Amino acid sequence: MNIVFLGPPGSGKGTQADILCEQLGLAHVASGDLFRYNLNNDTELGKKARAYMERGDLVPDDITIAMVKDRLQQPDTAQGVILDGFPRTPPQAEALEAIFAELGTSLDKVVYLNVPDEEIVLRLSGRLICRKCQATFHKVYNPFTTCPHGECNGEYLYQREDDKPETVRARLKVYHEQTSPLVDYYRQKGMLVEVSGVGSIADITAALLEALGVETPPEKRSD
Ligand code: AMP
Repeated sequence: MNIVFLGPPGSGKGTQADILCEQLGLAHVASGDLFRYNLNNDTELGKKARAYMERGDLVPDDITIAMVKDRLQQPDTAQGVILDGFPRTPPQAEALEAIFAELGTSLDKVVYLNVPDEEIVLRLSGRLICRKCQATFHKVYNPFTTCPHGECNGEYLYQREDDKPETVRARLKVYHEQTSPLVDYYRQKGMLVEVSGVGSIADITAALLEALGVETPPEKRSD
């Protein structure tokens, strides 16, 4: 099963994609994480992406598409993927179709996690990320208690540079102008399911599983 998570920055795409990938045995492909990895390791790709990311702009389509295509060719994606943060523009959506076709597979569903702008600003200003495993926490709503991978005591948590208020506003503007048209694009194709991204993490996971019409395998259930 190949799924795209669509929604504004801070709508919970990364958190929910992590949970669903673990429960459903899918690979989590997050374009933002791929860019941050390249940025932190000062690769050629990271050098090209840095200025765009620091401004809260989108990295140009050709660079982004090539990076995601490369990632989708890795063997761990064969059982299916959740794409988080890609596509973000109509040309990226078209490119994704072509990449999947080349790989002999296709996109099954697009989940739109709907969260109002005011809530986004509150969430992003308190968001903390683990530099080691990319897990996401929130100073108030989801404070660090234990590492989901049992590897640290919260010593790698940091606030993303682009989660500062001015950049959050720029990213929301970019989202409304360039990415939100994809909601209608996929709705017209009959692939879109919409889920409210407001509520507890567990309730949203349950709503997502229901909207996708999938059951969690018994050994992965937490209840
Ligand atoms: P994210 O972690 O998804 O919020 O992404 C962080 C930043 O990486 C974005 O603000 C963009 O600068 C860049 N980025 C991530 N995904 C894409 C994409 N699909 N297209 C263009 N730029 C992207």
